[in-house]
Amino acid sequence: MHLQFFGAAGEVTGSCHILEVGHHRILLDCGLIQGGVTHGERNREPFPFDAAQIDAVILSHAHIDHSGRLPLLHKRGFRGPVFATAACRDLARVLLLDCASIAAHDAARAARRRRRNGGQGTVEPLFTEADAEAVLGLFRSVRYGQPFQVLPGVELTFRDAGHILGSACVCLRLVEGDLERRLVFSGDLGQYDSPILRDPEAGIAADLVLMESTYGGRQHRDREATLAEFGEILLRTRRDGGNVLIPAFAVGRSQEVLYQLGTHYDEWQLADWQVFLDSPMAIEASEVYWRHSELFDEEARELHRREESMPALPNLRLCRTAEESMAINRFTNGAIVIAGSGMCTGGRIVHHLKHNLPRSECDLVFTGYQAAGTLGRALVDGRDEVRILGSVVPVNARVQTLGGFSAHGDQADLLRWYSGVEGEPPVWLVHGEPDASAALRDVLSRSGVQAGIAEPGLRLDLGTLGKTAQG
Ligand SMILES: [Zn+2]
Repeated sequence: MHLQFFGAAGEVTGSCHILEVGHHRILLDCGLIQGGVTHGERNREPFPFDAAQIDAVILSHAHIDHSGRLPLLHKRGFRGPVFATAACRDLARVLLLDCASIAAHDAARAARRRRRNGGQGTVEPLFTEADAEAVLGLFRSVRYGQPFQVLPGVELTFRDAGHILGSACVCLRLVEGDLERRLVFSGDLGQYDSPILRDPEAGIAADLVLMESTYGGRQHRDREATLAEFGEILLRTRRDGGNVLIPAFAVGRSQEVLYQLGTHYDEWQLADWQVFLDSPMAIEASEVYWRHSELFDEEARELHRREESMPALPNLRLCRTAEESMAINRFTNGAIVIAGSGMCTGGRIVHHLKHNLPRSECDLVFTGYQAAGTLGRALVDGRDEVRILGSVVPVNARVQTLGGFSAHGDQADLLRWYSGVEGEPPVWLVHGEPDASAALRDVLSRSGVQAGIAEPGLRLDLGTLGKTAQG
């Protein structure tokens, strides 16, 4: 019985771990590598295993850095089931099909570049829409809290991870001969007391824990303070006669921002604003959210019952087409525009930035992490001018970051989740930049917990719970 780290070991994206029980091989997640100059090539590299020999995949949640290489896995021969919650499956459909269209785009661009340099021929996309559809056809949904026999000797129970809709901690009871082990993979963990979603679940028993550490070294700003600040920004921008732009990820942040606008509608005097959700993918993801109200926390469920629609925002306009998106430009004031991409690296937000950044009465509000090298990061860093769609645009709008909106728990949340795992088992940290993982390891170690940081290729013997040779 072995566990080997492959992706999201020593970094944040590309989540993938390989579990061997008897003669069965199971993947925990199969995510896309994102960011960094070499991610394109890294995603194309051969897997360190034969895809056709993988018996099953267990998917913690739909985010692309956990699910994005599933179509590639199918393309390379995988035909087994993919176990996920029903909401995770529905969101994965939205995200994987979008991923396939981006892959087609990237391939066409690479082919054009090749032709410009005198070469010829087409460039094969990482995977196609047909590959995505094929792997989506292999999904089998498993309910939270109900033990499910995945394979002989492998029993799976999903527990709510509170990160995005349908996100789960993967709790496994593994049996091989006389050996029995309980392995828990946290997936990504949400903040406690965040809106819409339930808190991460406690009461999990484990002999070994695999735990995310994205914000292992950080404390988030208080949620109440974040909301108060958001309200002030809206009131001030309305007074100044400007617009508010909110770059947001399609799954998670977009829904939370809409939910907060809905629940603070009167307090923030939103009646004389127009709210635009300018992203077909975010619209689809929102529909999946509202369809799965059975997974909401008490408060959101109560609101859903009362209002019969979610979110309760009478002035919300959903912009699906390019024409609807361009029509937003007519609003010189009183528009709240939620659009992707979350880090301003592309998507419709870029056009809105071009129109509104030069205007000092407008506000740009970030709700998520901005990676180095992105336009979002340049703006957060306070640049006076930026390059957008080939022109230099002066930045006169106010740029704000609301830290309390993160989908990931901070160090206190991560420690709180671990304290809910019975038996104080050893921990291997995954899904974190080296500094963040080290910070969490140190605080766990100081309280007497045996904690290590996963490295790619490191293989653990689940019998002894110790390392074996690097593979
Ligand atoms: Zn995630």
